Amino acid sequence: MTAAPNKPPLRVVLCSPRGFCAGVVRAIDVVERALQIHGPPVYVRHEIVHNRTVVDALRAKGAIFIEDLSEAPAGPHPVIFSAHGVAKAVIEEAKMRSLFTIDATCPLVTKVHREAHAHFKRGRRIVLIGHPGHPEVIGTMGQLPPGAVTLVSTVEEVEALAADGGEIAYVTQTTLSLDDAREIVAALEQRFPAIHAPPVEDICYATTNRQGAVKAAARAVEAFIVVGAANSSNSMRLREVAEREGCAAQLVADVGAIDWAALNGVRSLALTAGASAPEALVERIVEALAERFAIALETLTTASETVAFPLPRALREAV
Ligand code: SF4
Repeated sequence: MTAAPNKPPLRVVLCSPRGFCAGVVRAIDVVERALQIHGPPVYVRHEIVHNRTVVDALRAKGAIFIEDLSEAPAGPHPVIFSAHGVAKAVIEEAKMRSLFTIDATCPLVTKVHREAHAHFKRGRRIVLIGHPGHPEVIGTMGQLPPGAVTLVSTVEEVEALAADGGEIAYVTQTTLSLDDAREIVAALEQRFPAIHAPPVEDICYATTNRQGAVKAAARAVEAFIVVGAANSSNSMRLREVAEREGCAAQLVADVGAIDWAALNGVRSLALTAGASAPEALVERIVEALAERFAIALETLTTASETVAFPLPRALREAV
């Protein structure tokens, strides 16, 4: 990028990794493959991933997004479950109605479901660390009978947990803030020293890597832009991580949502994208920055990613 005489200089640090994770790539592929194989429409329960651009693009190709299974007719057109996972009751309802379903739940969410099942089988009380109302949390809690899983989202809620003397275990939402989760886990371990922890961290590699990149970049810049939806848990956590490091951070769905006045006088800025935000949105923001500033673009890489998940068997076999 060449400096223009009338534009103020701006150092722009692109975080890497950023944007799509392997679970989101797979979920989008599932919908696209299902459309190719079965033809439109395909029904998708809940936003396949939390991003309006992605949802609109799939809708234009013939996906119909529904919130309730009752909106999907029985027949040859599949109903796809989103990357966040679904409660057992939803799967059972689909079976009862003989719906043709394809599960796009991220394998790393399924891993948490399996852990919860394993603890339940061993008679353990299960604590889920997560955000109330998030579809992933609803899906994980819904793997087991009501009352088997207790949701906590703060240290105070851990302190209020009753001790019944039985075995206890915890699992977590995959997109938590690493720092928040650490505090809550420490409180759980203090209150229940024998608590069973996940064999491998439940917070997924993509959440960990994106937060790590934001933390490193935030220490070197004055402001932050996080591209992502307001209902995207991992995107919200990225903004929080930047703010904790002292950066004025904006979470924007797209270039049109940027608060340009907040960037007056800013000389250095970092840019990242949540796990469900397409790279094209980042590119448009870089272009918009270049129209207003003489930008010097650099990339800060804190991890490399090679994770990829295969499509569900039903789609692999059909292909
Ligand atoms: S953020 Fe993590 S758990 Fe969620 S879809 Fe992506 S890889 Fe899977």
